[in-house]
Amino acid sequence: MSTIIEPRRRQVRVLATLGPASRTPETIRALYRAGADAFRINMSHGTHEAHAEVIGHIRALEKELGRPMTILVDLQGPKLRVGSFARPVDLRKGAAFTLDDDKTPGDATRAHLPHRELFAALRPGARLLLNDGKIALRVKSATATRIDTIVEVGGELSSNKGLNVPDVVVPMAALTEKDRRDLTFALEQHADWVALSFVQRPEDVAEARRLIGGRASLLAKIEKPAAVERLTEILELADAVMVARGDLGVELPPEEVPPVQKRIVQTARRMGRPVVVATQMLESMITAPTPTRAEVSDVANAMYDGADAVMLSAESAAGAFPCEAVAMMDAIARQVEADPSYAERVHFTETFPEATTADALAAAAAQIVQTVGARAICCFTTSGSTARRASRERPQVPILVLTPKLATARRLGLVWGVHAVHTRDVADFEEMLSKSKRMAIRTGVATAGDRLIIIAGVPFGTPGSTNVLHAARLTGEELKGYSR
Ligand code: PEP
Repeated sequence: MSTIIEPRRRQVRVLATLGPASRTPETIRALYRAGADAFRINMSHGTHEAHAEVIGHIRALEKELGRPMTILVDLQGPKLRVGSFARPVDLRKGAAFTLDDDKTPGDATRAHLPHRELFAALRPGARLLLNDGKIALRVKSATATRIDTIVEVGGELSSNKGLNVPDVVVPMAALTEKDRRDLTFALEQHADWVALSFVQRPEDVAEARRLIGGRASLLAKIEKPAAVERLTEILELADAVMVARGDLGVELPPEEVPPVQKRIVQTARRMGRPVVVATQMLESMITAPTPTRAEVSDVANAMYDGADAVMLSAESAAGAFPCEAVAMMDAIARQVEADPSYAERVHFTETFPEATTADALAAAAAQIVQTVGARAICCFTTSGSTARRASRERPQVPILVLTPKLATARRLGLVWGVHAVHTRDVADFEEMLSKSKRMAIRTGVATAGDRLIIIAGVPFGTPGSTNVLHAARLTGEELKGYSR
């Protein structure tokens, strides 16, 4: 795949969820043009057949544009739900309400709970939140077959509404039977990233990692208080994380979400794991062509915190203005990054290099860029690891990544500041130099007189060998016979 597409004029990435409003080849192309860097397929909705078709459209666009495209498949995870009701019921504050293992339709006094493992795990005093947290129940007593509760916050309840249990680690497997089928599908479809929902423990991530076996990168969604508590251990095992504010904001009081968001972004940045901030970012754009000022501010603040990517859910999947929502995120990112205080705010999170040559060179590259005013970092990588370490330093110029592995180029689409090019490996130092300069010109990141900082590993093509840092200057010779 030869790539001459210019990098985006921003470093933050935009992840757009695809759905009924955005599944045609034309809309996917328009979303890419508007600024989508990566596409999310949500396995909570739709059939494998429909998802395979969408993935086919993305890969066709990749071929057409000669630009690696990033696909993230988001597994539904062990989402808890109540059973069925013949008709909606009104739960009144102070009333008694029972959840049991009787499959008959529920009424205003009881409902079926189709999750056996929950009964034994609940203790008196635990909260049960129903219907996106709109209804709150408090457990009075629990046995192996019934949970008696008191309604603390009332409301209307109907069939299959979601249930959140914020106070306990639910003794459930990380992946349901459906997740396992969906994971097999995702791997068959060569998804670049798999997102794991409702992670509770590091073991959940380890289990998914074992099943994936390196065939895709793994993103852990942080949406349970239990996962926040064990964040560092989860980050050790995951390739990236998402601040999944939808469910996180149900399980935690909403006012606790902003500090938790900042903590997750900061910890992920320190550990060099890409971090995505997600959910309700431009919610009002589901039905309106322009966002609220508060939404714009929320997106901008996630960027100032140093997030790698921001995500659109229903805005791009089911809304009336999917391209406008992507274009809005693109515009916000450009504005934030043009703010002279952006670099300072992003560097507020100190990143201490690990005692590895790759880390030392990545940190030095970012420093040299600033000292000599270089225009880009050019990074040769096979696994993508050096590129991620360079990105962690948040250099003030694009990171032009040259990799012979298409899978690596695709996976880097979620990483801050990276513009990945899939290209043949170089054989020696001279070729490394000439290729860096040629690619810098072809992608438009540098021109005659500009400096480039090159990071590579000798012997070339050997993963884990990063050991070269070279400062080069484009003389103008490289431009001869080349017109953009
Ligand atoms: C969330 O809860 O914020 C989230 C991203 O997960 P989902 O959209 O899959 O519910």
